[in-house]
Amino acid sequence: MPAKDCDVCSFTENLKFPILVTDKWTVDLGNNQAYLGRAFVTLRTHKPSLSELSKEEWQDFEEVVRKLEKAYKKAFVAEPLNWGCFMNNAYRSLPGNPHVHWHIFPRYKTAPIFEGITFADPLYGEFYDDHAELIVSDEILNKIAIVLKANIH
Ligand SMILES: [Zn+2]
Repeated sequence: MPAKDCDVCSFTENLKFPILVTDKWTVDLGNNQAYLGRAFVTLRTHKPSLSELSKEEWQDFEEVVRKLEKAYKKAFVAEPLNWGCFMNNAYRSLPGNPHVHWHIFPRYKTAPIFEGITFADPLYGEFYDDHAELIVSDEILNKIAIVLKANIH
């Protein structure tokens, strides 16, 4: 059941470029691809924190992690994947209304070139740059999604 006034709930109902949808989670790409394949892994149920996840949701998440880490490595030679569950935006106005989701930042020792675009990772080996921006078109995003999906088994 979607929660009122939750941006994340509406996001999961209008997936743009989903690369994986399971019983409990969705994985969708966003147009900022500063890290090639940057994605959101979102719980399909409105729950405010990781400690509220059910066993089934954790088990399903484990499967998502396994599939994605393999797929990103195979598709783009991304290693490691940086996983972050922050939800800080939900607290910009109080009371906060968080909805569990993870950010994936794939990291690249060698900058991948895809569709003629170089996806540099100058801070490789360090924390990712949260302000890095490389906005790609929906057409490019669709191509990235196709390659990732082809590698998810
Ligand atoms: Zn929600």
